[in-house]
Amino acid sequence: MKGNFPIERFSGIETPFYYYDSELLRKTLNTINDEAGKHENFCVHYAVKANANPRVLNIICQAGLGADCVSGGEIEACIKAGFAPSKIVYAGVGKSDWEINLGLDHDIFCFNVESIAELEVINELAQAKGKVARVAFRINPNVGAHTHANITTGLAENKFGIAMDQMEEAIAEAERMENVSFVGLHFHIGSQILDMGDFEALCNRINELQDQLERHHIKVENINVGGGLGISYDHPNREPIPDFKSYFSTYATKLKLRPGQKLHFELGRAVVAQMGSLITRTLYVKQGTAKQFAIVDAGMTDLIRPALYQAYHKIENISSDLPCETYDVVGPICESSDVFAKAIDINKTRRGDLIALRSAGAYGEIMASQYNCRKLPKGYITEDL
Ligand SMILES: *Cc1c(COP(=O)(O)O)cnc(C)c1O
Repeated sequence: MKGNFPIERFSGIETPFYYYDSELLRKTLNTINDEAGKHENFCVHYAVKANANPRVLNIICQAGLGADCVSGGEIEACIKAGFAPSKIVYAGVGKSDWEINLGLDHDIFCFNVESIAELEVINELAQAKGKVARVAFRINPNVGAHTHANITTGLAENKFGIAMDQMEEAIAEAERMENVSFVGLHFHIGSQILDMGDFEALCNRINELQDQLERHHIKVENINVGGGLGISYDHPNREPIPDFKSYFSTYATKLKLRPGQKLHFELGRAVVAQMGSLITRTLYVKQGTAKQFAIVDAGMTDLIRPALYQAYHKIENISSDLPCETYDVVGPICESSDVFAKAIDINKTRRGDLIALRSAGAYGEIMASQYNCRKLPKGYITEDL
């Protein structure tokens, strides 16, 4: 089974480009709202770093999600797309002064603070503006996730967050400072997580930390559990919408929220990955000594995940229904790692055929580079075509 593409509308468009299926995006957002809406006090933010295409951001904003930003540029993109500053949270290990000032000027909901050194700077910058910044501490829960080593973030060895044994000291510091107000705890254990047991381990750890804080009479208004829900890269057609039901109900049953506490989520990949495909044109089919190569006009500059994480993206020839043959699908960049897939079976491919790299809506367009002086790929939603 292949994906559904408005291929006749692709004809005038320069390849490679990203195609975003806005109907699937809207369906995904409806599912998120339905499933999260079953639980009281659940607030879902979209992790903008997965895809900051303005048309995509706008649809997500209209669905009522908040935004999770990791840079000043993302805060600007969100304000432009229409997100209310009161729904923007801002995380990151290295926030520069202009980025903090931008957040303060817009009165964003919360800074997710990753060190006491950063807390001091936020306090100073807020003081200079006569403001009080809301802060949550990102705690490193030392919980592993069954995912690629480069995208696990919640282990003690990772650079992210404040160590658990420094949590109370950080809260006490914030309480001594005049221009910050402690509003919550933040966690994020990694990405492309499909085992609900990993999220359950995070819940257990948060329960322990909450018990500890309660013994010291420290009140926490907001718990933010980050994102990380994975998607099916193998079966984008069979599983176009991730299992949000299990995801939210894991947190609803395993996390012991205190009365009135709000639970925040920051989902990136699960919101946008499946609605996006990188569309590329076959330039040449080359017969090697032992294999045949389909050389396409997209490369690792357009979609870096296969080169960076050995990530798998399902590949379909959307111009051909001829019997399948085996190809290595490769890009034009002068790097041996510029390979999208080795020895895959796709419909017999000829020069000019359009190839879709599926599940590319997250960490695709936004990670594109101009290496080899290439043009950046454009992104189009269905209505743009
Ligand atoms: C990357 C990131 C997310 C989103 O991760 P996904 O795996 O795309 O859901 C959420 N929160 C923080 C702090 C992040 O760094």
